Amino acid sequence: MDEAAQNLAEARQRAEVLRGELERHNRLYYVEARPEISDREFDRLMRELQDLEAAHPELAAPDSPTRRVGGAPIEGFQPVKHAVPMMSLDNTYSLEEIREFDARVRKALGGGAVEYVIEPKVDGVSISLRYEQGVLKVAATRGDGKTGDDITANARTIRSIPLRIPTVAPVLEVRGEAYLGKAAFEKLNRERGKAGEPLFANPRNATAGSLKQLDPKVVAARPLSAVLYAVGALEGVEFETQADVLRGLQKLGFPVAKLWWECRGIEEVIARAQELQRREDECDYEMDGAVVKVNRLVLWRQLGTTAKAPRFAMAYKYSHEQAQTVLKAITLQVGRTGVLTPVAELEPVELAGSTISRATLHNEDEIRRKDIRVGDTVVIEKAGEVIPAVVEVVADKRPRGARPFDLRAHAGGMCPECGGEIVRDPQAAAWRCENMNCPAQIRGRIEHFASRGAMNIDGFGEAIIEALSSETQVVDATDDGLFGKTRVEKVLPPVVHDVADLYALTPEMIELRRPNRAATAKKAEMKLAGKLCAAIAVSKNNELWRLIHGLGIPNVGEGLARTLALELGSLDALMAADAEVLAKVRDVGEIVAQSIVEFFDNKRNLAVIEKLRIAGVRFNRVERVAAGASRDGFFFGKRVVITGTLQKFTREQAQEELRKRGAAVAETVGKTTHLLIAGAEAGSKLEKAQKLRIPVLDEAEFLRRLE
Ligand code: AMP
Ligand code: ZN
Repeated sequence: MDEAAQNLAEARQRAEVLRGELERHNRLYYVEARPEISDREFDRLMRELQDLEAAHPELAAPDSPTRRVGGAPIEGFQPVKHAVPMMSLDNTYSLEEIREFDARVRKALGGGAVEYVIEPKVDGVSISLRYEQGVLKVAATRGDGKTGDDITANARTIRSIPLRIPTVAPVLEVRGEAYLGKAAFEKLNRERGKAGEPLFANPRNATAGSLKQLDPKVVAARPLSAVLYAVGALEGVEFETQADVLRGLQKLGFPVAKLWWECRGIEEVIARAQELQRREDECDYEMDGAVVKVNRLVLWRQLGTTAKAPRFAMAYKYSHEQAQTVLKAITLQVGRTGVLTPVAELEPVELAGSTISRATLHNEDEIRRKDIRVGDTVVIEKAGEVIPAVVEVVADKRPRGARPFDLRAHAGGMCPECGGEIVRDPQAAAWRCENMNCPAQIRGRIEHFASRGAMNIDGFGEAIIEALSSETQVVDATDDGLFGKTRVEKVLPPVVHDVADLYALTPEMIELRRPNRAATAKKAEMKLAGKLCAAIAVSKNNELWRLIHGLGIPNVGEGLARTLALELGSLDALMAADAEVLAKVRDVGEIVAQSIVEFFDNKRNLAVIEKLRIAGVRFNRVERVAAGASRDGFFFGKRVVITGTLQKFTREQAQEELRKRGAAVAETVGKTTHLLIAGAEAGSKLEKAQKLRIPVLDEAEFLRRLE
């Protein structure tokens, strides 16, 4: 064998080992929630495989874990015919009807008590995964039940879906739901809000939207998961009961529901259905109810199906807390990118223990789809901790003359903040104020720049930003010693037009405009203003990722800002990077690369950046924190959640300390959490951690461990 062939053979062997290991660790992490190696170690193995595949393109394989980061964009979705149709389910909100379902089943089978399985009805997007000889070949959506869309490239990016399973069965189709976890959904929407992109109405929409992305890299950046609960076409495998299906899938490495039960008789089913609803919060996916299925699969054939739904299963749906109230008005909020977000102004109403007077309407398309009109009586819903949303209109309470909502007309064709022209952004399905000088946008940009996840300028809130960025009317009392006190009203011009102007502020400029300032306040004191200026000055020395995030580049959230800072090392390098260079960065797809390039092509943005440079803002401070962390450190490789109030640290500082030590800081407590740090007044997270028996550190112990 010549040297090249020898090399290739070795590379092939190593690639196989790496693929096996990566898939195993992937399963341990995403499916079984008991990782054996640190995220860094995992990344290292992945890098090695990526490098091997890059050096030997002939080794590339569609089932390689490297595909999980998303391949090349695709043109469109090919239709896939389902060998076994994907059916919908009959459903009910009433337990009485569940009993009637049981009566029908027993009658058809002519016997006594029937065995059932009850499991969560996962509110995601149905998918079907076809494995041939154990390799994931095709992933498809349900579509109309007979034909779906081929979403294989996107499904591969879902970490909990195995690319290979330990079976030689010629065909095994596995079905279930893809979903976006609750915490991930909140985070995604928060980031979209900050980036001025329209919000997703709920996790299911976000999931559906993600799976239909043409750029798998965008999908890879969204932490989708899946739960599997059924099989379709089968060759060389057989199951006897639904319980066998669930156990069998779990054994093959698929994520299955954590809570499900085999029940004898319908009363046991009903008891479990209620238990499931009580324990809904233990699952990271949204549940819209429970599904009851006859356990024995031979009986399925006996019972058969109607045109739409099987006769052997039924969904019992949960209702969420809802209330009715009148939609008094729809206001439009202008975000920092100019996107106009409609907000429902409601007749105040009690809902789930609090008074609600505003609710989210998401976007114009959503309002039209639900045909929500001003004056309507609407149903608002609050499910769990999410922001209340308008779910539907009570049609027969519509006042006469209510007009369909038209955002453009509603706004009179102009931005409610600046009167500038608004245009429809076809990509984002949103209306946008085009005026770069729009005060709402200026405020939004500055708020974002100063926010905790960006430059983290302490004490720089909405009110002071508003006062600095617009004309302010102030009352000044002067005492000239001759005529006594006189009150002078003045209008001061705005002093902050862009984020760089912050660095030119003096305590005096701030003090004069400070909201709630007493007319008699002595300028000489200026304590608050002095503090703010100090906080601004401190931010000059921030780490680069904070600056990158703070600039507000479309599609660049905090996570990506960190990656860009680490990989490029300076703002100048980022500015100089073309699409080709950017595409090599982890998590950067074509769309993101393009928006970065466009941002730095904009003269105005460049001018602001030069002002920042002159002001002395550092452009290159990159702390390779995790890299310097000691592997033997207590926090290294742990997933840590912080809750409650800490005395010695802000939340941000505590997170930084943890990250420096190689810990991953998460928002919500789950089975994969290693440690909870609980400050004063810790609430539900602490309870949850105790329930899950996760170790808890109080602040004193946390401090000790840091040292
Ligand atoms: P529907 O779309 O409301 O008719 O409900 C039927 C859909 O519920 C199915 O197509 C599945 O996508 C979904 N579903 C969610 N969880 C389950 C489950 N555990 N068993 C069966 N179907 C489920
Ligand atoms: Zn405007």
